[in-house]
Amino acid sequence: MARIIDLLAAGRTFSFEFFPPKTDAAQLSLGRTIAELETLHPAFVSVTYGAGGSTRERTRDLVVWMRKETNISPMAHLTCVGHTRADIDAILDTYQAAGIENILALGGDPPTDPADVRPSDYEYALDLVEHLRNRGGFSIGVAAHPEGHPRSASRAADRKFLADKLRHADFAITQFFFEAEHYVRMIDELAALGVSKPVIPGIMPVTNRGQVQRMAELSGAVFPAWLADRLDGVDDADEVRRIGVDAATELCAELLAAGAPGLHFYTLNRSTATREIYANLGLPVS
Ligand code: FAD
Repeated sequence: MARIIDLLAAGRTFSFEFFPPKTDAAQLSLGRTIAELETLHPAFVSVTYGAGGSTRERTRDLVVWMRKETNISPMAHLTCVGHTRADIDAILDTYQAAGIENILALGGDPPTDPADVRPSDYEYALDLVEHLRNRGGFSIGVAAHPEGHPRSASRAADRKFLADKLRHADFAITQFFFEAEHYVRMIDELAALGVSKPVIPGIMPVTNRGQVQRMAELSGAVFPAWLADRLDGVDDADEVRRIGVDAATELCAELLAAGAPGLHFYTLNRSTATREIYANLGLPVS
């Protein structure tokens, strides 16, 4: 297994994100996806965590299963919202016992229903990063938001908090975006703040227009007019995916040309779009 900080030091990383499945059928489908994506030799894969702990056991089970049963290094996501120090330590104890070496430390989104609010010892992702750093033993990643985080007062304020967070973490992975200029501007702004840690762009190929547009609205990413124009009037699912894959391929090529230290694909637990982008980019497959 490998620490992501070491993988990034050795060269570009290509990696995939999964979410923990809810049903037996979804579990089987994810098993097939992982088998298909293993042939692309990802440097690591990551598993999301439901803010507030809604997927606590399912995230842990998937991460530990991947560590034991596949050759891929897993990274577990972990969020601050609704977690005490004891909750976090219990989760980290399990991961350390299972040989998990990578954690993505996240703020998480606060619950919309006041009835779901639970006590939390951590306000921001930085608090969790500091806890992980004091404990030792993990390579630590954080989230970056190229177009600014929706709850931040301004992009400048968000960049300052990101820079503070990255000074303590090893690397960042970005929220998805559709135009390379957002990423390049963020890297320049971080450099101006004296931070040059690796920031891996997150790639979301459009395979379902409505779903990706909704996610973009929630995360503060602009769905550009040129992409909407390409998709307007297209109902056939395969044609939507072809357009989405072409746009994502162009974005990936621009990001690699701009010096990105890797690419992280939001797979939505499917393999086809990621495999097609790999083929378009001429990345190694076996
Ligand atoms: P933080 O770094 O805590 O920032 C949150 C907000 O607070 C920002 O607006 C920031 O500018 C501001 N801020 C930071 N520090 C301060 C301060 N000291 N004072 C005032 N304001 C401050 N969510 C999940 O629930 N589960 C997941 O598995 C998950 N995976 C993700 C993976 C990636 C790669 C990304 C990019 C996001 C992911 N998210 C996930 C979403 C994430 O939890 C939300 O975007 C969340 O709202 C912010 O998380 P953060 O880690 O950026 O938080």
